[in-house]
Amino acid sequence: MLGLMQEWPLLCHKVIDHAALYHGNREVVSRSVEGPFHRTSYSEVRARALKLAQRLDRDGYGVGDRIATMAWNTWRHLESWYGILGIGAIYHTLNPRLFPDQIAWIMNDAEDRMLFVDLTFVKLAEMIAPKVPSLERIVILTDDAHMPETSLKNAVSYETYLGEADGDFTWREFDERTAAGMCYTSGTTGDPKGVVYTHRSNVLHAMAALQPDMLNLSSRDRLMPVVPLFHANGWSTAFSGPMSGCAMVMPGPGMDGASIYEILTREKVTITAAVPTVWLMLLQHMEKHGGALPDLTRVVIGGSACPRAITKAFQDDYGVDVIHAWGMTEMSPLGTLCSIKPDYSHLEGDAKLDLQTKQGHPPFTVEMKVTDDENEELPWDGKTFGRLKVRGPAVSSSYYKSRGAEQFDAENWFDTGDVAHVDPHGYMQITDRAKDVIKSGGEWISTIEIENLAVGHPDVAEAAVIGVAHPKWDERPLLVVVAKEGRSPSKQSLLDFLDGKIAKWWMPDDVLFIDEIPHTATGKIQKTTLRTTLKNYHLPTA
Ligand code: ADP
Repeated sequence: MLGLMQEWPLLCHKVIDHAALYHGNREVVSRSVEGPFHRTSYSEVRARALKLAQRLDRDGYGVGDRIATMAWNTWRHLESWYGILGIGAIYHTLNPRLFPDQIAWIMNDAEDRMLFVDLTFVKLAEMIAPKVPSLERIVILTDDAHMPETSLKNAVSYETYLGEADGDFTWREFDERTAAGMCYTSGTTGDPKGVVYTHRSNVLHAMAALQPDMLNLSSRDRLMPVVPLFHANGWSTAFSGPMSGCAMVMPGPGMDGASIYEILTREKVTITAAVPTVWLMLLQHMEKHGGALPDLTRVVIGGSACPRAITKAFQDDYGVDVIHAWGMTEMSPLGTLCSIKPDYSHLEGDAKLDLQTKQGHPPFTVEMKVTDDENEELPWDGKTFGRLKVRGPAVSSSYYKSRGAEQFDAENWFDTGDVAHVDPHGYMQITDRAKDVIKSGGEWISTIEIENLAVGHPDVAEAAVIGVAHPKWDERPLLVVVAKEGRSPSKQSLLDFLDGKIAKWWMPDDVLFIDEIPHTATGKIQKTTLRTTLKNYHLPTA
């Protein structure tokens, strides 16, 4: 017997309807690309998204069309997403930090018909557009007064484009499994792979993200996603924010420490989210210039492992709780968050910080397991590590055009490519990317753990550990360090600092000081580049 409840398709535009109806006057504040702060509300965002949808519909766009965006977090970018979603088209976020040829490759793969682009990236778009034959029209996210001189064909300002619609439009209805968004993974190995979200997966994922043990968002919050909407589906903030009715603060192009500090305090942000490198910049800014964060209650940190020193600084120096998070583009992206369950609420000081180096536990909708290479499940003892696999309604079932099929098995388990262990309370900890793990004499050494400790050294700004060839042990760890400005720690002081904190055989065989560590387009340490550059590095122990 089937139940007798209504079919109510989980469509993304229902989220902005809800926000406009019940939280209509809640603010959406942005640092605009043009410079000044801009203030609007959910009801206004919805009204303008409807105009955009109407205009797109009139121009012949609809279900299944890929519409790219290359933009900072602003109200216009948010409106674009909902306008695109409301006709069943697909927002396809582009990461402007990729090389132009990579972006063109991705756009051609997706066959994007339109591009919404910020002023900042017009020059970049001029390089790319001629290489993307499917591209018909370009909307520059500004008004006529700020339209730049451009060689882009068929370019129009966003305000003019919108202005030609009156907003008398109703969202289109379609199956909740319709594609809603596209985001390509960085492709550190091989070509980038397209992840395709559905309306249903976005809505379910946002509902999961709102839960108290996850982001715990409410209408009383002021949420600032520093993580760009173009990174891993914006960590769900474009949906979970409006769904909760919280105010949204959009940092626009101001991603440096001073700008982030200014907007956090000026706009009384209560919760914010970004990768560790952003928070490092903020903390360094505050260390230098002073400051306080009286309104901020929690900061979500993920994308790469959050160093213990960052967590300690936020909590001990500024009274802000850190929520360590792990996820992937393929998971919409949130997989686990490290909120404190009653089992650990007694922890304080170092013991609490130890717990917070873990990536945490999943919300309802994410199943996880850890297996060995033969796909046998490993025990949840907090130390046995293996391949981390996940499944759930907001986890990819395959990549666009069936790439990377080997990562999915018949029971829908997706192999994340991460190596992790899980403790008896379900707290997961990433020990490495499978391809970064160091195999020394057949045993695995976790590079992340050593890096986390090394950045706790008072003179260290950033650290990376890679495996370097060794005649006896196959590979041994090399610690690569960028010192803080004006400091010059010695190799011995680093080794002394690690001594006693890690197993003896995990001790790096050498320490190399460099000026800059290469990063990926999403702010992660680019170990492939480091490994290539240091391929012939001669360890003193070799
Ligand atoms: P991209 O690969 O395009 O940079 P993703 O955000 O999809 O973007 O990357 C996901 C990967 O990032 C994860 O598989 C994991 O290796 C790493 N990652 C994300 N969050 C964390 C974290 N908190 N700790 C360690 N690694 C993390």
